[in-house]
Amino acid sequence: MGRRKGNNKQSSSSNYNNNDYTSQQQVTSMMVEDEVLEETTASSNLDDPISDEPDDTLIGGDKTSADYYFDSYSHFGIHEEMLKDTVRTKTYQNVIYQNTFLFRNKVVLDVGAGTGILSLFCAKAGAKHVYAVECSQMADMAKEIVEANGFSNVITVLKGKVEEIVLPVAQVDIIISEWMGYFLLFENMLDTVLYARNKWLINDGIVLPDRAALYLTAIEDAEYKEDKIEFWNNVYGFDMRCIKKQSMMEPLVDTVDQNQIVTNSQLLKTMDISKMALGDASFTAPFKLVAERNDYIHALVAYFDVSFTKCHKFTGFSTGPRSRATHWKQTVLYLEDVLTVCEGEAVVGSMTVIPNKKNPRDVDITLKYSLNGQRCQVSRTQHYKMR
Ligand code: SAH
Repeated sequence: MGRRKGNNKQSSSSNYNNNDYTSQQQVTSMMVEDEVLEETTASSNLDDPISDEPDDTLIGGDKTSADYYFDSYSHFGIHEEMLKDTVRTKTYQNVIYQNTFLFRNKVVLDVGAGTGILSLFCAKAGAKHVYAVECSQMADMAKEIVEANGFSNVITVLKGKVEEIVLPVAQVDIIISEWMGYFLLFENMLDTVLYARNKWLINDGIVLPDRAALYLTAIEDAEYKEDKIEFWNNVYGFDMRCIKKQSMMEPLVDTVDQNQIVTNSQLLKTMDISKMALGDASFTAPFKLVAERNDYIHALVAYFDVSFTKCHKFTGFSTGPRSRATHWKQTVLYLEDVLTVCEGEAVVGSMTVIPNKKNPRDVDITLKYSLNGQRCQVSRTQHYKMR
């Protein structure tokens, strides 16, 4: 799943390593230095007057922008992005079409069905019946899609929360879901899958995917740290460093160029979705990141893999910087200090991940790290919030 509330905050930053962007920034900073006060009015965009339309402009059907703010999965745009993520969608398709022996005559539960794509794959692979549960307005579309494709007799779309719906059967043979969020755990839909597993899955039933793993590595990222973090030091001549503190605390979801990677990757946590308990997604894991060259480290980067171990042939995908990009990109955690590392030296520490107490869909991350190197000695704890 795509996991965003309203707009994707990263959409404007996809040109992460784009040189044009840097030169544009340089032009802007030159203009700021001039401090010509008239510039302010002269450059206001008069061709683009502020709209008189009310905030709740109709977007389509009878929904307003306010509706979408609270329920982004009701809009087709987020589903379009997920469906067009071919690494994601094709992996699920291959898992299902190339392992029809798992699905034939089986009862399947699709947790968070969206457009119903996974249910359609399962129906085509010969499932006896598929229950497609979706809580957003997209459930209405899923019903139409199922009908339009002639699968009404095999797929039943249930509109509602998995935690609240009444399933017409007592047990299912297979649970399939695409629940993964940014940083794997953002939005915390894993709990919904575990809830469904505990309530309806037969004893030797299958959860797809059944393995997930979270990794950490370190990158050189001077240019982008300057643009995203140091930017707040001087904004049109004003000190906005109070926002800098906040921007440091928010992990950045963006694509990282593999050439920026300075250390090995450390496996932080593996999860067996078919066995783990609710609450196992909170953890503290140690790490040791060994520098593979002399360089600077500006940030740690987290990413995940998922796999389907019940397939005939091992199947899965990675969202890491060395793999083909997905809509999950990677999650970048900027460090207060720039670490100067020499080849062979290690940044050691631990990462703690827990759902936020007030809003369990948000994730609180604590990073402890230290480096005792030739050129740099640092020991620090930093807190981050994914929201
Ligand atoms: N399976 C689809 C959609 C994945 S996105 C696909 O692969 O394309 C995850 C979907 O789960 C979203 O549409 C979201 O609205 C839905 N969802 C999240 N939590 C849910 C819950 N508790 N009950 C029902 N649906 C849920």
